[in-house]
Amino acid sequence: MSGVGQDYPVTRGTDRDGEPAAGELSRPRLTVVSGPSGVGKSSVVGQLRRLEPNVYFSVSVTTRAPRPGEVDGSHYHFVDPAEFDRMVAENRLLEWAEFAGNRYGTPREPVERALADGRPAVLEIELQGARQVRAAMPDARLVMLMPPSWDELVGRLTGRGTESETAVAARLAQAEQELAAAGEFDVRLVNADVEVAARRLLDLVTGGGISADRCDDTEQHE
Ligand code: 5GP
Repeated sequence: MSGVGQDYPVTRGTDRDGEPAAGELSRPRLTVVSGPSGVGKSSVVGQLRRLEPNVYFSVSVTTRAPRPGEVDGSHYHFVDPAEFDRMVAENRLLEWAEFAGNRYGTPREPVERALADGRPAVLEIELQGARQVRAAMPDARLVMLMPPSWDELVGRLTGRGTESETAVAARLAQAEQELAAAGEFDVRLVNADVEVAARRLLDLVTGGGISADRCDDTEQHE
């Protein structure tokens, strides 16, 4: 691996089938950002959005009720279960999953349009959805955002104050499962600092950072 990252443009391909050869521009790709509730996905992705306006950020549909301050069409498209069922039946979702008692899904058409228009696309979704994307679009890069430690995650989740005790417990149980699947992801990125994590993610989303593909950022923070 020594020197490979430095010898070629950052768009150089990796061992993954379908990657561009050395010197070719990489085609826009889909990046999936997953990670347990409370790890700071929204903050990191929000910062990424400020850093790079050309990236398309998917707006999911959900049957969950809006939290205070959440705007329909911006944070989520809030739909009722019947509308969600219809979208599933009409194959309008790229992936969908049930999480902590609510359903969430990625509208297919806007993502496909963004990629066709040459824009990198980012999905911020949970584990089951990430697995569906991997199966449907093997080119997608899967990034798992990791907490610096388990205790820190518990602190962040309980301190958020937006969920009931039962909901927090459900999210912690789910978090344990998500972290156990970290090995399935191409990149594990520790969110110790939002700005640092967002810049690292920007590299990955816009085609750079390939030399660190399939890497594990966790060692840097232990
Ligand atoms: P929250 O209710 O905290 O906004 O989201 C709960 C979980 O659902 C988070 O892990 C979030 O990333 C995930 N999520 C949000 N949108 C989608 C989606 O479209 N599909 C899937 N599979 N998960 C999603």
